[in-house]
Amino acid sequence: AAKSSGKRTWRRFQPQQRIRVMERHELQARLDKAVSEEAFGLRYQPVVDIAGGEVVGFEALARWPELGPDPVPPGQFIPLAEETGHISTLGAWVLRRATADIARLQHRTRRLDPPYLSVNVSARQWRDTGFLDEVYTALDSTGLAADTLQLELTESVLMRRTKQIDAQIQALKDRGVSIAVDDFGTGFSSLRYLRDFPIDVLKIDKSFIDGIPEDPQQVALVEGIVRLADTLGLQVIAEGIEEQPQRELLADIGCRYGQGFLFARPLTVEQGEALLRQRNAERAPTPD
Ligand code: C2E
Ligand code: MG
Ligand code: MG
Ligand code: MG
Repeated sequence: AAKSSGKRTWRRFQPQQRIRVMERHELQARLDKAVSEEAFGLRYQPVVDIAGGEVVGFEALARWPELGPDPVPPGQFIPLAEETGHISTLGAWVLRRATADIARLQHRTRRLDPPYLSVNVSARQWRDTGFLDEVYTALDSTGLAADTLQLELTESVLMRRTKQIDAQIQALKDRGVSIAVDDFGTGFSSLRYLRDFPIDVLKIDKSFIDGIPEDPQQVALVEGIVRLADTLGLQVIAEGIEEQPQRELLADIGCRYGQGFLFARPLTVEQGEALLRQRNAERAPTPD
């Protein structure tokens, strides 16, 4: 026992770990300040129809700081914001800003089919009792149609459902908002929640897409997910498409929608609008 506790003491004072702890504290202090100053930015990654390349929606992705040479990756600051509870403030800001941006974009491009907005919502936000009101306020104050809003959750939320979360999701669904499962396949996937839960969209995680078309097992898995989704009446989005052969295989197996650097990186709202105008055909004018 003495030996193992001695080992632990030694480990605790490893210089590398001390640096990590210091960096964390510093990052946390910067994040506190950034949250109070709303010093964040948003980029919008197009979701496209894989066969034709038309833009059907935009996923809002947080950036911090908004500008400058040293961005902190969301994979780093989002988990930190989740631990400290800042994600509630940050998430509310993302909702307000993204709904305002996309409502304006939809208005400026109103002769095109309106693209939808997809927003990432962390587990902690789903547990906030004020979350539903934040969504409604964002919709009401921007005029974004509820049926052009999609909210993304991860499998961890589905695995730790509560009556409150179920009720919130049902209320959102009743209002016309869609629900997508993000990073599908990386969590504790249970086929039962796909059946019991009012999900609209599965987003197949990039780690599965990386292995196609070379790896027959990955191909079989992606194909299986697409078939399953079809059977259950869900839409599928393949995440992280980087190469043309991936796109071709996905089109072949009937995966309709995708996101990835092959089509577009996360863009400013102006760049997103330009791409939409370039890729999407105008609707025939409707007589009124
Ligand atoms: P996610 O929601 O799965 O978003 C997709 C991530 O994959 C984004 O990273 C996007 O830039 C990246 N990506 C898209 N296509 C490709 C590709 O072809 N190749 C590669 N290598 N990457 C691609 P990003 O922006 O760094 O965000 C990382 C994660 O941070 C997101 O994963 C999401 O979980 C989280 N996140 C970002 N913004 C928010 C937010 O506003 N709220 C919450 N709760 N989470 C957020
Ligand atoms: Mg996402
Ligand atoms: Mg994802
Ligand atoms: Mg993710």
